[in-house]
Amino acid sequence: MFGTLEGTGFEVLDPRFEACFIGHVKVERLHTGMRWVEGPAYFAAGRYLVWSDIPNNRMMRWDETDGSVSVFREPSNNTNGHTVDGQGRLVSCEHLARRVTRTEHDGSIKVLADAFEGKRLNSPNDVVVKSDGSVWFTDPSYGILMDYEGDRAESEIGACHVYRCDPDTGELTQVTTDYVKPNGLAFSPDEAELFIADTGATHTPGGPAHIRRHTVNADGRSLNGGDVFADCTAGLFDGFRFDREGRIWSSAEDGVHCIDTDGTLIGKINIPEIVSNVCFGGPKLNRLFITATTSLYSVYLNVNGAR
Ligand code: MG
Repeated sequence: MFGTLEGTGFEVLDPRFEACFIGHVKVERLHTGMRWVEGPAYFAAGRYLVWSDIPNNRMMRWDETDGSVSVFREPSNNTNGHTVDGQGRLVSCEHLARRVTRTEHDGSIKVLADAFEGKRLNSPNDVVVKSDGSVWFTDPSYGILMDYEGDRAESEIGACHVYRCDPDTGELTQVTTDYVKPNGLAFSPDEAELFIADTGATHTPGGPAHIRRHTVNADGRSLNGGDVFADCTAGLFDGFRFDREGRIWSSAEDGVHCIDTDGTLIGKINIPEIVSNVCFGGPKLNRLFITATTSLYSVYLNVNGAR
């Protein structure tokens, strides 16, 4: 696991990136042999990471104490994105069941959202929880376009939107309705802004491959703005996370792209597989976990993930 892993390394595109990593630290491959992985979520109390192996219809678990990997849940309803809420509970997007769920402390699974105005969601993809407990998720159609990552079906809603769910009341609202394929999303560290990736280019020639920036309105539950913040220079931005200084660490085709607060791509972590999602973990949140096609990678950084 140690030493240089072929095809990996830090690539400085702007001097600002040099302070973000440690020169002799290498990327590690923690596990491989899966089909298409996404949705890493780190549990600090248990010192483990869970993620999705979507086509294999299972969730995996990596144990930080001994590096072992096991199946966490199978079948998983083709889960995709996950996050951990303020109470340490797992919140998951399920392609197959077309819903967002929360795994309770007793292990039971509670449905948070599965329909909007009586119409089934498409296939929730990625999810974040705001500090007020509200659950924000994207609903592109990837899980219903083919049988590989869910069940092929027509969209009942007929479009791909972003939603806010109040998990206490079940209230569901659309917070954006002008995306082609909304995908990864993350709040800025101060939660004043919500950034959302659009991967519409996958099925629309010349379609969007960028991250847009929205301002969260004073009500804390609706959005304004939505200008393009950064265009992807290699493939697509899928999932991404913020560090404490407001830099974005995003998935891309050739690795992880680091984008500074002004939208400049300042550096990359090269990875030899297409990257889907990332998350910060470890007790200090200074270790980046990277899901990439068939493998899980990690690398220690000189930055800390936003809480
Ligand atoms: Mg995604």
